[in-house]
Amino acid sequence: MNDKATQNNPFFESSLGWLRSNDIRNEKGDAIEFDNHPFLEDIYLDDSQYLTIMKAAQVGLSTCAILKNHNDAKNKKLDIIYTLPTDQDVSVFVGGKVNRIIGNNPPMIKDVADKDSIEQKQVGNSMIYFRGTWTKKAAIMVTADRLVHDEKDSSKLDVIADYQARLQHSKFKQIHTFSHPSLPETGVHADWLKSDQKHWFIKCLWCNHWQYLSWNTEDPAEMSIDLERRIYACKNCNKEITDGMRRNGQWVKKFHDKQISGYWVPLLIAPWVSASDIIDRWKNPDTTQEFFYTKILGLPYADSSSKLLRDSFFQNLTNKAWAPSVDDRVIIGVDTGLRIDYVLGNDTGLFMHGDCDDYGTLDGYMKRWPKAIAVVDQGGDLIGARKFYERWPGRVFLCLLAGDRKGKELIKWGKGDEFGSVSADRNRLIALVVGEFRDKRIPVHGTESDWYEYWLDWNNLSKIKMLDPDTGATRGYKWVRSGRDHRALATVFWRVGMRRFAGVGALINPPRAMKRPQSYMINPDKTVSFNPDKMFGSPQQQKQLEIDEKGNLKEDKPPEQDEASKQAIEESLDHIDPSGRWK
Ligand SMILES: [Zn+2]
Repeated sequence: MNDKATQNNPFFESSLGWLRSNDIRNEKGDAIEFDNHPFLEDIYLDDSQYLTIMKAAQVGLSTCAILKNHNDAKNKKLDIIYTLPTDQDVSVFVGGKVNRIIGNNPPMIKDVADKDSIEQKQVGNSMIYFRGTWTKKAAIMVTADRLVHDEKDSSKLDVIADYQARLQHSKFKQIHTFSHPSLPETGVHADWLKSDQKHWFIKCLWCNHWQYLSWNTEDPAEMSIDLERRIYACKNCNKEITDGMRRNGQWVKKFHDKQISGYWVPLLIAPWVSASDIIDRWKNPDTTQEFFYTKILGLPYADSSSKLLRDSFFQNLTNKAWAPSVDDRVIIGVDTGLRIDYVLGNDTGLFMHGDCDDYGTLDGYMKRWPKAIAVVDQGGDLIGARKFYERWPGRVFLCLLAGDRKGKELIKWGKGDEFGSVSADRNRLIALVVGEFRDKRIPVHGTESDWYEYWLDWNNLSKIKMLDPDTGATRGYKWVRSGRDHRALATVFWRVGMRRFAGVGALINPPRAMKRPQSYMINPDKTVSFNPDKMFGSPQQQKQLEIDEKGNLKEDKPPEQDEASKQAIEESLDHIDPSGRWK
C-alpha cells in the first residue's frame, strides 16, 4: 500500500482501513474477514463517543475491540482503560487473545513497547490498561480518553460507574460497552434502551420485504425461523431467507436523535450459524431459557424472581382507593435519606405511598391512626429518625437492613435495652416481598397511575450474581440498585412491621368479607399474645363459617359497620389519595 494514498483519508485512519492496509490477522493467524462478519464493518468504523453493543456470545466483538483500541491508541493517541469482570478474565483475555493477536501481526509488535505485561500495554505513546472489576485491588487512578467495558453485565456495575471519573480530563470522553445482556433495563440493556437501537435489516429477495431477524415461537409475524423446514424464513412471504440475504444486510436505526450508538447482535444475523444450529440449541434440554435469550438471541431475560416485573406488580392493583378506619393497625414503612420515603398499609394491603422533607407528615399519620406502628430505616437519617422514635414511645422501631446474614434469623427484634430496634436481612426480605407481589398476595389499593412512580423504584432493583474476586466463581446473589429504590425499601420496612404487628408471617391475604379481628402481636418466640375470641371471631361468628356442598366456605354478609366507623372511613377517603398526597 502506497503511504501517500493513506494520508488524510478518513477511511485509512479508521480501524477498518488500518487493518486492511496492514493485512491484520486474528489470534489464530487468519486474516480478519467480513464475508462472515458483514455486520462488524460498521462497528469497526463507528467512532461515536458513546457506543453500546448488546450481543450474543461469540460474534467476534472482542477481536474488533482489541484492534480498534490498538489503532486508536496508536493513531489517535487515546489512552484507554479496558475492563473485564474479574482479574482472571483479564489474564485469559490478554494472555490468550491480545498477546496472540499482537504476536501474529508484525506491524503491531512494532507498536508495542512492552507486550508482556498483562495489566498494561504501551502502544506508540499511549497506554491501554486492563482491569478486572471484581477485584480487591484499588481502582486504577490514571486518566483515560476511552473506557471499554467488556462483559459489562457480569462486571461489578458500581465499579464501572466509578470509572467515569477517569474521563474527566479528556477531550474525547468515550465510553464503549459491550456485553451479552442479563436482566431487562440493567447493564448493557439499559445502555441499549438509551441508544439509537440499530437492528440488522435484511431484504427478502423473493418479495423485497425489509425485516430484521427475530425469534418468537408464539407469534409467526415475529418469527424468522421455520421450525419444520429448519430454515430462516421471510416474515412476509415465508420463503427461505438465504445466508446470502443475511450477509447483505444493513444497520437501521430505530431512533435518530440519540447520543448513544447502539447495535443489537443476535446470533441469528451470523451467517455461519444455520437455522438448524439455533433450533438444536433451543431443543437441547441443557439450554436454559435464560441462556437461549441472553447468549443466543442477545436479549435480556428476567425470571420473575430476579426482578419485580411490571406485570407482577400491577396485577395486585385493586383499582379502588381505600383507607383503613382510625381504629386499624396501620404499618408505616419509612426509608430515610435526603428525603423521607414512606409506604402505608395493613393486612389488607398497601394503600398509600409518598415522600416528605420532615417528619411532620409522619407525625400526622401517627395521630390519625392511633394504633399505627412505624418501622424506620436507621441507616439513612439517624438524627431525625431517632427524634421521631422518641416522640412516639413504643410505636416507632428503628430498623437496620443488614447485608449478609447467612444462617441467621430473617428478622431480629431487640429485647430489653434494645427494645425499639430491629435488624433484618436485606437480600432475603427483598426476595420475600418480590415473591409476594409475584404471587399476588399483597393487594395494592389504587390505580396504575397512582402506583407507577412507586413501581419505578422497584424496577431499579435487580438480583445479580456475586463473583469471587479470586476465583471468579459465583459466591451468591445480591439485590443491587441501578437508580432510586427508596419506596421499594420503604416497603421492605413495612413488611418487617407487618410480620410482627399484623401477624403476617409469610403471606398477606386479600381483604376478607368477615370483619377483621383486632390486631394482635406475634412474639419473637413465635407465641401469640391474643384473645382467641378476638382472633377467630366470637363463638357466634365461628358458627357462621360453614362449608357448602361444593366445599366452598360460606361467608355471611359482612357485619354492618357502625355509623361512626363508616364516617371515619369516608373521612379518610376524602383526605387521602393513594399516591400519598393529602388532598
Ligand atoms: Zn419474502
